[in-house]
Amino acid sequence: MVVELIAVGTEILLGNIVNTNAAYLSEKCAGLGLSCYYQSVVGDNEERLQKAIQTAVDRSDVVILSGGLGPTEDDLTKETAAKVWEKHLFLDLAVKMQIQGFFTKRGSTPTENNWKQAMVPEGALVLNNENGTAPGLIMEKDGKHMILLPGPPNELIPMFEQSAIPYLEALQPGVIFSKTVKICGIGESKAETMASDLIAAQTNPTIATYAKTGEVHFRITAFADTKENAKQLTIPVVEELKNRFGSHVYTTKEKVTLEKAVVKLLQKQKFTAASAESCTGGMVAARLINVSGVSKSLKESYITYSDKAKRKLLGVKKSSLLEFGAVSAQVAEEMARGAADFSGADVAVATTGIAGPEGGSAQKPVGLVYIACNVKGKIRVGEYHFSGNRMKIRENAVASALTLMRECILEYEKEE
Ligand code: ATP
Repeated sequence: MVVELIAVGTEILLGNIVNTNAAYLSEKCAGLGLSCYYQSVVGDNEERLQKAIQTAVDRSDVVILSGGLGPTEDDLTKETAAKVWEKHLFLDLAVKMQIQGFFTKRGSTPTENNWKQAMVPEGALVLNNENGTAPGLIMEKDGKHMILLPGPPNELIPMFEQSAIPYLEALQPGVIFSKTVKICGIGESKAETMASDLIAAQTNPTIATYAKTGEVHFRITAFADTKENAKQLTIPVVEELKNRFGSHVYTTKEKVTLEKAVVKLLQKQKFTAASAESCTGGMVAARLINVSGVSKSLKESYITYSDKAKRKLLGVKKSSLLEFGAVSAQVAEEMARGAADFSGADVAVATTGIAGPEGGSAQKPVGLVYIACNVKGKIRVGEYHFSGNRMKIRENAVASALTLMRECILEYEKEE
């Protein structure tokens, strides 16, 4: 089944907002086994929107529109979609009551234009909006489907997951089941090469590779008559990937992130942690703090950007800074030692590098980063060469710091 996405909003065309809905919806649709051949963005203009919708419904089975369901005059999506399929709009009293309820709960009163949102195309299925007043809509005609979703991601995502996914699943002749194998510590091209025969042989299940910063995700998607049968088809592929990538696989669960996996390991060992950060400026700590409950593990973090701070807060030797420079394996190691000593943490990770664009040299080019991890006094230091802009280099350093923490804790586990 072919799906097509249309994002509505002049703000997107002007670059004022990034079309994250398209990224989210594409990934979800691929996971549902839908083929997406076209995506477009249209401004708040009735004529152009009408043409875009007409083109999309002519060439695709399902058209998903996001945005333009609001109460104002320039919110045109519903009216235009109804026009394309010659559906009348009528006042849906249940939706009107829901909108009234939304305002009452917040102690405010709706304005007259809010009732525009209670107008529903004839025969449309109304999707509940938990976080806003614009209901979503599903319209059907001649075996084709249009799904209209509100623009704000905090409204679109829960609505898509609660209502649109079950609807799309029911349209499919079978059931789709997906499993994700997430790996770290191996680059995308190497990971793809290691799995190339599996990828080449894929039919059912299919294997898709997604490169994330410092990680590679394999999504295995199978199609069968029942969920259980589809799941069974994915199992040998998941097992084969686990065999090939070994301890580089940090999870096969969709919701587990790299930082979550690290925190889980810390908690399993009842370890406390600290970070000493130069080029990452606190980003390692921020990633760990993404995980709820990390307060039991993360003791403290030091942002030691200057040489003076490295000496004062972490006890890095002046002679090491002079002899090897702040960006060196020796200084990274001393930072990781100092962070553990001063905080009393079991695990300390340290980063020091040249994020650029200035500051590089022939011996120490932009992108050179040293990362050290200290687990109960045993310190491992890695030298990394990242490319990209300043942010990309720093994000890669953070992912590598988390990966190194994970590897060092696993090593400790093995030795114990
Ligand atoms: P509502 O009336 O419920 O706010 P709407 O359906 O009318 O929503 P828009 O007015 O088009 O939605 O957009 C509202 C906001 O939603 C935008 O300012 C933007 O913050 C966010 N948004 C809209 N479209 C997208 C998109 N494609 N990707 C990411 N965010 C978006």
